[in-house]
Amino acid sequence: MSVSPSDLLRDDLRGGTPYGAPQLDVAVALNTNENSYAVPRDVVEAIVSSVAGVASGLNRYPDREFVRLREDLEAYLTGATGVAVTADQVWAGNGSNEVLLHILQAFGGPDRVALGFTPAYSMHPIITRTVGTRWVDGRRGVEGAGVFDLDIASAVAQVRHHEPDLVFLCSPNNPTGTALGLDVIEAIYAAAPRAIIVVDEAYAEFARVGTPSALTLLEGRGRLVVTRTMSKAFALAGGRLGYLAADVELIAALRLVRLPYHLSSLTQAVACAALEHVDGLLATVELLKTQRDRIVAELTEMGLDPVPSDANFVLFGGLADERVTWQALLDRGILIRDVGMAHYLRVTAGTPQETGAFLEAMRSLAPTHRQEQSP
Ligand code: PMP
Repeated sequence: MSVSPSDLLRDDLRGGTPYGAPQLDVAVALNTNENSYAVPRDVVEAIVSSVAGVASGLNRYPDREFVRLREDLEAYLTGATGVAVTADQVWAGNGSNEVLLHILQAFGGPDRVALGFTPAYSMHPIITRTVGTRWVDGRRGVEGAGVFDLDIASAVAQVRHHEPDLVFLCSPNNPTGTALGLDVIEAIYAAAPRAIIVVDEAYAEFARVGTPSALTLLEGRGRLVVTRTMSKAFALAGGRLGYLAADVELIAALRLVRLPYHLSSLTQAVACAALEHVDGLLATVELLKTQRDRIVAELTEMGLDPVPSDANFVLFGGLADERVTWQALLDRGILIRDVGMAHYLRVTAGTPQETGAFLEAMRSLAPTHRQEQSP
């Protein structure tokens, strides 16, 4: 009898489901928290000329240390947050998913444990398991009236109980949308003295005014890592550039696991060109925040239960059957996200037109799709 690849698959991967947000050809795609605005013309031109500048050198491997890119990221982070992060504290990969993988390859592994607080970003457990690390699904403290805050005392107790090697935090949190207070991060860091604490800030640029970044906590905390991405606010999801900031010693550990030359010359050229146009690219952030707040306000008027958001998406509850609503929207050419939470769906804030199309559809669906209110 012949042996098939599925017979040979690692036991812990058997029966698993791959990450699979649907990629459908629809009029209004608001399901993967991309930036709906196209890359502006002047940035397109800068990218094309930057790529042209490296094309003849593609016979050579790229700069393995992506020095120029790290310097550009240093300048961006320092300018945006006021925190003096140096280029040697910066690391990058093909999307923040890859920098998360590097962290797990270096600090996870068999016999090691990673803890996260569900619901949070679905790739944290998936990437964790690919490197044979055990994932512990922690609980977010209080869930009531659509609030998904991470309660400090509960988080600290869970960290002490599980003694993880890694803790994943997400701020602003996907899919719930809310940012974490620095007090929660500080408390978790102190409660897990042998763990790497990862704060995934993929949506940081969309946070409401006054929301501090975990970058402000890096100084003196050698086990803290803050990951970010150009996929959301920078409208560069297709460019695949994610990065992190951490202590130089932690970054040295990541060099042990990265593949040689993991960031192509093209990726580096595209990202550097984009980082020369930060203001132009980030101009859409305010527009998207306005649409996000419009979604929260209008869904509330419809008697639904949106969660206030610091990101470019809104999680909303109050649906009788989220799968039925998801399909009804798709039938109208509007694709949003079923995140696997009963009575909830998640929608990305798009252009005013896209957001309007979603809200108009919801307005017509709400009366029949709302969950029965208890008297
Ligand atoms: N972190 C979070 C919280 C996300 O929502 C996403 C994208 N959905 C990512 C990381 C990964 O983004 P990328 O790999 O495109 O940087």
